Amino acid sequence: MSTNKEHQPFGSLSPAVMRASTVVFNSLEDFVQRKQRQPDGFSYGVTGTPTARLLEQRIAALEGGRHCVITPSGAAALMTTVMGFVRGGDHLLMSAACYGSLKTFGEKWLARMGVELELYQPSIGAEIESLIKSNTRMICMEAPGTVTMEMQDIPAIAKVAKQRGVLTMLDNTWASPLGFKPLEHGVDFSIEAATKFFSGHSDVLMGSISMNSHEHYDILRETQSILGQQVSPDDCFLVLRGMETLQLRVQAQSESTLKVARHLSQHPLVDRVLYPPLESDPGHAIWKRDFSTNGCLFSLILKPAPERAFHAFFDTLQHFVIGASWGGVHSLAAYYPAALQANRPFPATDQPVVRMSIGLENTELLLADLDQALVAYGKALTAN
Ligand SMILES: *Cc1c(COP(=O)(O)O)cnc(C)c1O
Repeated sequence: MSTNKEHQPFGSLSPAVMRASTVVFNSLEDFVQRKQRQPDGFSYGVTGTPTARLLEQRIAALEGGRHCVITPSGAAALMTTVMGFVRGGDHLLMSAACYGSLKTFGEKWLARMGVELELYQPSIGAEIESLIKSNTRMICMEAPGTVTMEMQDIPAIAKVAKQRGVLTMLDNTWASPLGFKPLEHGVDFSIEAATKFFSGHSDVLMGSISMNSHEHYDILRETQSILGQQVSPDDCFLVLRGMETLQLRVQAQSESTLKVARHLSQHPLVDRVLYPPLESDPGHAIWKRDFSTNGCLFSLILKPAPERAFHAFFDTLQHFVIGASWGGVHSLAAYYPAALQANRPFPATDQPVVRMSIGLENTELLLADLDQALVAYGKALTAN
């Protein structure tokens, strides 16, 4: 929380929304030299306005980093980071559990632009050293992994990478910097989908890239502007507002999520709960060592059943809405078909995955809702 001294003398507690495509200059000399204002200053709307810079400063402070570049979505933050540093002829290592569109970008675009893309097993840890080649430029990580929630030994990977002169980036959206601070563990770039926890209300898309190196910041500011990744100041306002309650939301959702996940892990129709905060999860030890919040997102593998049972489960839910994304105040449920996982390198499962995002609703209501949906699932499972 802050008191917004930045916006004196008017003294509103609320940040000013400053809009601009054109930025005006006092003299021709000033205009001619405008590039020198980068990476922090303002010369054209694409690099942002003071509203964007305020948000970037808040995010950098939360990450324990010196610099931040915001992007129009979490996906854009991932692609911009890779585009800033990886070129044809480079080798790029990416966890098989990284965010889907980052993998697709790697496979459909980068590979055809001469980048050697290699997907690695998320649990690899320090063994990643055996995959590093002379042309390895960057290692992409995400923990817990998208949908299947595999933990990664982030400090071990960052250490090896540093020794070998390889850049590292971590998609830290699940934990947010309140649960884990990647930069303090040797990671070069901490990526957040601000769409999720930061904004918190399912009404805006945004991403952030935080870092310590000024040289990297310079490169990413240029990449962000060359790619035209402009962020609307109105959207910055929404994320700035969301961040005022971030800590309270994360705390409440984190507590509720652990209760819901524990409850489900004891249900006879649940095969596995993919969720590192549970003692039974293979990633629990690393999670406990490195992370300090439970997140608000976990996945379920239900007892095998025909497709109609999943329809019965989802269509019975009253308090959970069906939808993609997560991290907002409303609880959500999403479905990922078996084939999506089974076709992946190093698959975590060959079963359909149900993913739940826990919001701020009363936990008891959510538990009752899930119990009802599982009753419907069980009925559909046994009916013929
Ligand atoms: C949602 C999400 C993204 C993408 O963010 P968008 O703002 O929706 O583009 C990236 N990584 C993770 C882990 C996410 O959950």
